[in-house]
Amino acid sequence: MSHAVQSSDVRSGTGSRPVRSCISLARIHGFSAKNERKQKEKQVKQILKKAENERTEDEIQTLEDLIEIVQELQKRARRREKVKAQQQETEDSPDVLDDKVKKLALLLRESNHAVFYTGAGVSTAAAIPDYRGPNGVWTLLQQGKQVESTSIVDACPTLTHMGIYKLHQEGLVKHVVSQNCDGLHLRSGLPQNSLSEIHGNMFIEVCRNCTPEEQYIRTFDVTENTSLHRHQTSRKCHRCRKPLTDTIVHFGEKSSVKFPLNWEGAKLNAEAADLIVCMGSSLKVLRRYSCLWRMNQPLQRRPKLCVINLQWTPKDGQAVLKISGRCDDVMQRLASQLNLQIQEYSKPKDPLFNLATPLRKKETESFSTKQLSVGTSLEECLLHTEDEKKHDQERKQTDLEGDETKSGPLQPGWFGKGLRRRSQSNKRRRRLSKIKDEL
Ligand SMILES: [Zn+2]
Repeated sequence: MSHAVQSSDVRSGTGSRPVRSCISLARIHGFSAKNERKQKEKQVKQILKKAENERTEDEIQTLEDLIEIVQELQKRARRREKVKAQQQETEDSPDVLDDKVKKLALLLRESNHAVFYTGAGVSTAAAIPDYRGPNGVWTLLQQGKQVESTSIVDACPTLTHMGIYKLHQEGLVKHVVSQNCDGLHLRSGLPQNSLSEIHGNMFIEVCRNCTPEEQYIRTFDVTENTSLHRHQTSRKCHRCRKPLTDTIVHFGEKSSVKFPLNWEGAKLNAEAADLIVCMGSSLKVLRRYSCLWRMNQPLQRRPKLCVINLQWTPKDGQAVLKISGRCDDVMQRLASQLNLQIQEYSKPKDPLFNLATPLRKKETESFSTKQLSVGTSLEECLLHTEDEKKHDQERKQTDLEGDETKSGPLQPGWFGKGLRRRSQSNKRRRRLSKIKDEL
């Protein structure tokens, strides 16, 4: 009998009754210790809220006894303040901006291989919201606010896109790595082999079955019915008849699509770069791609770095130049320093019309989103004129103040999908952690 019990204990391992009891006791002990700590933190927080001269002797003694908790709470408050300060947008004064842009012009003239890394900030003047700015898509969604639905097809390349294209034509910029999926660099005239759209392009769908991958450039948003891990669009490859997929890379995804991501081009150019100019990006995602920063090389052999962004970025400390300015403003001043004339964007000459694969008859009804067309869009393209920008700003402000009748929820496309999925998984994680705590 006794032998049988011992065997059963060995087989069941930690599942045996005494061990299970120990685990339960440890859990209960951990739970009560956690609760005790929470109570103490609450007590300390209440005392710290009082002015120093209003604290009783007992309260002062409590703070001394619980000095470790006091220090921890102070540390957390400092961290919160730091994050808050980093999220704030600051703008250099016009004089400071001029001085800094002069330095940037010099850096560009002296460089042999300059590469631009761009983020959502280069497209905000085209009425495309950024992600982490005060009115950014993710900031608003995280605050539970509505995000105005705009047709991204209506957006046109900004002065910054056109300026980068001009710099490329002049040989002052060799390559552009963009995190934007709006396709505006391609539409500015930048050739695809000088561009790495590392998170995809909303106008491009590909056939992954064909070798080399067959690329289909369209004049409409191909992401209408796609989302995280679901990339199949509503059309088929003309060569092999297999379904096409979009090229968008959401958070938590990796994509091996060759173009428009062009990682090979991004890596080769980062390797050859002697100057990297980061424009309109928080760099929170971009910094994780170590191959773009030559992190495997000593600091003195890495390219010079210039950061142009209204908010703090994690690369500010390594930059030889940080410009706190709006992209279009900086580009305008830079063009004037370099004596360059930036061409105005012209819708009829939009390269997308030439690059696009003509739709076959039965494909014309395969999408319901707006199509880019020459006829209707000239006035829509003027969104970045001053009056329209002001009007757009006022409309956004009204929406923020609670008049939600003018704004609709986020509509099909790639915007916000990654975040929505992330929030859901965060909620799930929190729920699981709560259940664990309650055990
Ligand atoms: Zn194919």
